[in-house]
Amino acid sequence: MSPEQLKEKIRIIMDFPKKGISFKDITTLLKDGEAFKAAIKGLAELVKEKDFDLIAGPEARGFIIGAPLAFELGKGFIPARKKGKLPGETIKAEYKLEYGTDILEMHKDAILEGQKVLVVDDLLATGGTIFTTIELVEKLGGKVVGVAFLIELTELNGRENLKGYDVFSLIQY
Ligand code: IMP
Repeated sequence: MSPEQLKEKIRIIMDFPKKGISFKDITTLLKDGEAFKAAIKGLAELVKEKDFDLIAGPEARGFIIGAPLAFELGKGFIPARKKGKLPGETIKAEYKLEYGTDILEMHKDAILEGQKVLVVDDLLATGGTIFTTIELVEKLGGKVVGVAFLIELTELNGRENLKGYDVFSLIQY
């Protein structure tokens, strides 16, 4: 299944979560076994030249894409979770929401100094969410070798905010 065919599996919902937003709903792709598999295999193909030890992804959709990608490539998976969810000692990074801020956390011992990490999420919009995940990886001494997304909303210039990182996306709008 090509990226164009995968795009047809994504449902667009207008005015969600608020008026004027055209929301890319991946649940329609995920429930199709063949499409889900093709999406993960397609991402694996995109990053195949990259050398890394671990994949890190933010809650919650970063887990849906990042974990099967890690499994496919035989790598470990590191979750960046919302505040208060991880049981061990954590480090934190704050990110901006439209109103106020939120916090993502990672276990302090999740990454060893110098380990190479691919950071993954479902969708790149402005890049705020993924940048917070990158910050956590780097605070722990990890080296971000690339950032990969199932979907990129190119008009929002998330790539600009990720200057200096190798950015991969399978489907673009
Ligand atoms: P950013 O932080 O502005 O890059 O927004 C990306 C984050 O918001 C990702 O974690 C996405 O899961 C979520 N997101 C933003 N827009 C959409 C959308 O249209 N569909 C699905 N998720 C979205």
